[in-house]
Amino acid sequence: ICGGTGCHATGSLKVKDALLSELAAKQLQDKVTVVETGCNGFCAMGPLMVVHPGDVFYQKIALDDIPRIVQEHLIDGKIVEKLLYKDPSTKKPIAVQTDIPFFAHQMPRALRNKGLIDPESIEDYIARDGYLGAARALLEMNAEQIVQEMIKSGMRGRGGAGFPTGVKWDFARKSEGDIKYVLCNADEGDPGAFMDRSILEADPHAVLEGMIIAAKAIDARKGYIYARTEYPLAITRLQIAIARAKENGLLGQDILGSGFDFDIEIYQGAGAFVCGEETALMRSIEGRRGMPRPRPPFPAHKGLWEKPTILNNVETLCNVPQIMLHGGDWYASVGTATSKGTKVFAMSGDVNNIGLVEVPMGTPLRTLIYDIGGGIPKKRKFKAVQLGGPSGGCIPEQHLDTPVDYEEISKVGAIMGSGGVIVMDENTCMVDMARFFMDFIQEESCGKCTPCREGTRRLLQLLEKISQGRGEPGDIETMEALSHTIRETALCGLGQTGPNPVLSTLRYFRDEFEAHIYEKR
Ligand code: SF4
Repeated sequence: ICGGTGCHATGSLKVKDALLSELAAKQLQDKVTVVETGCNGFCAMGPLMVVHPGDVFYQKIALDDIPRIVQEHLIDGKIVEKLLYKDPSTKKPIAVQTDIPFFAHQMPRALRNKGLIDPESIEDYIARDGYLGAARALLEMNAEQIVQEMIKSGMRGRGGAGFPTGVKWDFARKSEGDIKYVLCNADEGDPGAFMDRSILEADPHAVLEGMIIAAKAIDARKGYIYARTEYPLAITRLQIAIARAKENGLLGQDILGSGFDFDIEIYQGAGAFVCGEETALMRSIEGRRGMPRPRPPFPAHKGLWEKPTILNNVETLCNVPQIMLHGGDWYASVGTATSKGTKVFAMSGDVNNIGLVEVPMGTPLRTLIYDIGGGIPKKRKFKAVQLGGPSGGCIPEQHLDTPVDYEEISKVGAIMGSGGVIVMDENTCMVDMARFFMDFIQEESCGKCTPCREGTRRLLQLLEKISQGRGEPGDIETMEALSHTIRETALCGLGQTGPNPVLSTLRYFRDEFEAHIYEKR
């Protein structure tokens, strides 16, 4: 039974209790194991359950469906068709999970354990090759070999910037310092993004294992996971995972008898979006106000408490154990020339199949939205897809065949970002959309530098004016000039990319802005 936050919200815990009661009533409690997993991914269909063997996927389960599932499926051996996913074109039910189009086009690597393990059980994780990558790194490899394997994999940071992970580790490895740190950025704050939360809820040990390997690569003894305090379930499961790993000699002193010591602590961020920026995050852990500082020095040389530090995001780290286990070449065998491996996306908005998906790099956006996402509800037309969070960009229909690739996405005016995908149908007003994201950005500006603090506020005022029908000739040009100034002069990434909602919507939907001003729509 899916036990991610999405399914909890639709009542999966009650479904689980009802199932346990029914199994007890039928004296099947010793024959059937009920496992509450992390997020299955197909959030739109919750509460959901997958029955093994057979990989049978039941969706939108109500409490009174439970006696039927127990009697017809578990006792009589017949699949309950009423609860199956129906193919939208043929209306035929599909029983096997992997035959459902939402799953059929995916390639789970970072999400390899989703829906298959109890995230609170270290035994479940170990049974699926958990901690084997760490064992290899700690017992068979030296720091340089680990870094070289990462460089060979071509892995680029999944937090948004796309910097090569192995190269970053190599900088920190070569930095001189008696103390070094490994940090995990779990401060996911983009509207519409829930990749990191779902991974932490579903597979917390994978993140710990990635951090252990990173620590060995740069010779760090201490790590912090900077997690949003708004993610209580993810934090609870991380706390349990850390405790189990310590009990089993997989964290703390002399890990796996290798002589290597490493410990991890969770630090709860208080909800400031800017604390996802690496230097602000480090200041926050230091107990200071979370504000960015200029770089250089880069954190690999002077990071947390001025010590060499690497910061990787959740998705990046949970890919690391597989790279150690199967090798960099294996990882790089999927993807495009410059974007290797797979990418996790959180898909939401005007799309039928809202949920968490993982596809090979190079997959066209059209496949993501139509084949996996099931297209636009109510037979409406697609208008745009917003990629890369508030500082990302909107991609219109004519660019839907753009592949998921850092460079290709930026050519059409968006950024890969951390993986939020918000689909918009023909009824979406793009001026309102730009206003929504600009409102978020100006609210989250930390206020340290003038271009971002004042500039984003002015942009928001102009957008409000236009969307309320009070726009005047010249407002668009003022917004463009202001946007370019902010881009060039703001201190950190939040400000530098802050005008993107304006610039990217103007690039493709300028006529809508003009219609608001000249036709007072
Ligand atoms: Fe703060 Fe914005 Fe300046 Fe970044 S660009 S330091 S968020 S005011």
